[in-house]
Amino acid sequence: MEQALNLEPITLPGLELKRPIIISGPCSAETEEQTLETARQLAANGVKIFRAGIWKPRTRPGAFEGVGTLGLPWLKRVKEETGMFISVEVANAHHVFEALKFGVDLIWIGARTTANPFAVQEIADALKGCNMPVLIKNPVNPDLELWIGAIERINRAGITKIGAIHRGFSTYDKSEFRNDPNWQIPIELRRRIPQLPIITDPSHISGKRDLIQSVSQEAMDLNFDGLIIESHMCPEKAWSDASQQVTPEHLKEILKNLVLRRPSIGDTPRVTLDELRKQIDKLDTQLLQILHERMTISEAIGKYKYENNITILQTRRYDEIMNNRKARAIENGLNPEFVVKVFEDIHEESIQRQSTIMNKELQGK
Ligand code: PEP
Ligand code: MN
Repeated sequence: MEQALNLEPITLPGLELKRPIIISGPCSAETEEQTLETARQLAANGVKIFRAGIWKPRTRPGAFEGVGTLGLPWLKRVKEETGMFISVEVANAHHVFEALKFGVDLIWIGARTTANPFAVQEIADALKGCNMPVLIKNPVNPDLELWIGAIERINRAGITKIGAIHRGFSTYDKSEFRNDPNWQIPIELRRRIPQLPIITDPSHISGKRDLIQSVSQEAMDLNFDGLIIESHMCPEKAWSDASQQVTPEHLKEILKNLVLRRPSIGDTPRVTLDELRKQIDKLDTQLLQILHERMTISEAIGKYKYENNITILQTRRYDEIMNNRKARAIENGLNPEFVVKVFEDIHEESIQRQSTIMNKELQGK
């Protein structure tokens, strides 16, 4: 367990937050009309928490940087007209004060801000004495400690209604995602702080609308608590993140298609699960037996190489093994990257065994 965090469930007046918690709205509030019309359509589709970026952290100067405080009265109108709760991103103390002034119900800290402890501390200090719900996005870089550090800073300012937002991580590798989901990081966050709600942001993970359904489903299958999805009355015309926003109608469809599986096996019939687990146990035993046999053969190869004065590492042979196993992996419907990782480890251990045998032979001389 993590060092003492004082957390309590997120609550909003008169709204029971049930899984999946849904937050939706445009990437950015652009005009009063676009904000209100999007909100009206979302409210009609049952969304209870509205999001809109007012201050936008942009990668390059000159891009649309948000309408600023000017947009906060629009959000206030959304709240008055539709009864939805309103949320914005804050990146400094000024944003916090402005948001509070206009009755914002919930704030989130963006990925670029979470990566900066000075900024997080400034926000924490500005929030002192006001226990509003705060959601903390993961930092842009895949650093769980930095994410937890931001959660701790906000918590130490007396904020107890905290949630995390998983929005994926920057990577220079080519990927189908805008931000690599790296699911093992939010899974580890859940293990470290089990009582912390985790909301997935399929929009910023995907970067394109077509992936939002499957990323949302994956989040639900991993038992995360909710989804924050960007929606816009006319996504193609959005001033920021146009390719990843969906219409309120499309959002409704995505939510309707979600399959919510049981969060725990508690009362499910155990027969089939027990049966499946037995099969896994049997296969693992066979895997271990095969690995044992493979290592025994590696040792025999080590002995042969020693006797014939051949180096242990034969680069061409290693390349052959890897290419062959990768191709076989694909033929067998396995993820080739996973299989390469497994064979790299196996190969490393084989080399180790061979070198131990050669050393033994040498000393025995
Ligand atoms: C956003 O939610 O619009 C946003 C800027 O997200 P992130 O901080 O995840 O990039
Ligand atoms: Mn966005």
